[in-house]
Amino acid sequence: MFARNKPDVLVVGAGPVGLFTALTLTKRGIPVRILDKDWRTGTRSYALALHAESLRYFEELGLLASVLEHARRIRTIAMYDGAQRKAEMRISGLSEDHSFLAVLPQESLERILEEALAKQKVKVSWSHEAVRLEPREKGMDVTIEKLSKDSVGYTVQHTEWVVSGTEHLTVPFVIGADGHFSNVRRAAGIEFPTVGNANEFAVFEFKTDADLRDEMPLVLTGGTTNVCWPLADGACRWSFQKPLEDPDWDTREKDRDFVQVGAGLFPSLNEERLRSLLSERAPWFRGNVSGLRWRMMVRFERRLAESFGKGRTWLVGDAGHLTGPAGIQSMNVGFREGRDLANAIAAALQPGGSTEPLEQYGKERLAEWRGLLGVEPMLRGDANTDPWVAEHKDQILPCIPASGRDLATLLGQIGLTCRLPAAFRTPAGKAPTP
Ligand SMILES: Cc1cc2nc3c(=O)[nH]c(=O)nc-3n(C[C@H](O)[C@H](O)[C@H](O)COP(=O)(O)OP(=O)(O)OC[C@H]3O[C@@H](n4cnc5c(N)ncnc54)[C@H](O)[C@@H]3O)c2cc1C
Repeated sequence: MFARNKPDVLVVGAGPVGLFTALTLTKRGIPVRILDKDWRTGTRSYALALHAESLRYFEELGLLASVLEHARRIRTIAMYDGAQRKAEMRISGLSEDHSFLAVLPQESLERILEEALAKQKVKVSWSHEAVRLEPREKGMDVTIEKLSKDSVGYTVQHTEWVVSGTEHLTVPFVIGADGHFSNVRRAAGIEFPTVGNANEFAVFEFKTDADLRDEMPLVLTGGTTNVCWPLADGACRWSFQKPLEDPDWDTREKDRDFVQVGAGLFPSLNEERLRSLLSERAPWFRGNVSGLRWRMMVRFERRLAESFGKGRTWLVGDAGHLTGPAGIQSMNVGFREGRDLANAIAAALQPGGSTEPLEQYGKERLAEWRGLLGVEPMLRGDANTDPWVAEHKDQILPCIPASGRDLATLLGQIGLTCRLPAAFRTPAGKAPTP
């Protein structure tokens, strides 16, 4: 190991997965540095729910109470085809203690993690970008640029981010938690190919008096996926998939309505559009729409890194995989990746330690994501499976807010058998808990 005051691991990216990974490493006594090119946390609120499995990991870190304080609990996934309720899954049917989902804004989660890191005396280096990574015999050489605001211009002054300093760091391990454009992945020469169709979603967040109870409605209709997440403050977030071919949507796009122009965000995603999508796709939704506070068109790609790392550079979270939004799988599986990778790096850093757990990590990641992204079919129905469920099984898979054994249990409730990778079949094969 390097000297105590130098990090053993550099985590590039302080999104939810990077913060979680840095905290897990710190709790294992491994000196960590974490940096992010953004200037602060909580600048976005995209992924909004913790899977039941993630709640167990937050409990291990001593953060469950803080998470639940801000969260709304979801216990059922209700599946609809337009007006008809077709099936349901009970998160409360999972055998573990935390048999619910916790819905809370990503920014709240990131704040909880950043504060927990600060208590461990690890401060996130905001406005620091890892720009170059080069392998050395015993680690990685990383070039980091510090970004600062500068006022420029003559008559009309404006603020720009400029490089105000450069730092070189040599570190035994680098973790790329730097999201879909990952510099770490590109520096390691790892390709990030598309493995399925990209889909666009119109996302609306609004206050409503609808009685959403503790259910997450999932509407699969006309080839589209639509999901409603009830939020903690009496609001909800609806995401409606844009049909692959739909003259109505296409006309609006031609009118440039969907293009973000300055501060006038997505003007055609107005209340009228929301109401028409609700009556077309979820006619059972009873409730008013008040205070439309967020609306956006978002494109979700399906990509998988060809490898999750090698030698001294490893990937977690969106740096390694991209999927659709409904099941919040990319962030939540990312937490398990952070935990497993922390265990593997801890093993490698031991005197005479082995890198075998790291190789194992890479293999397991590819195996799980090939299944989740449908590269290798993992679902099977049988003669007793409801025909609607059997017909929609590939559309259902990325929408389930679970992974691993929990995913298999939930899919079993609707008559689908899930073939899990070997690591989930043998508890002894999993990484030890801290
Ligand atoms: C508009 C939008 C809506 C979304 N909606 C949903 C949704 O409804 N459901 C869902 O499941 N997911 C959604 N997502 C995706 C979700 O936000 C991600 O899955 C989640 O944030 C992944 O976390 P992460 O920590 O792996 O990566 P990120 O959250 O992307 O964090 C990566 C961090 O790395 C930093 N970084 C990048 N490069 C460098 C560098 N070279 N040096 C230093 N720092 C760097 C970035 O600034 C960033 O903070 C959405 C994403 C977007 C953009």
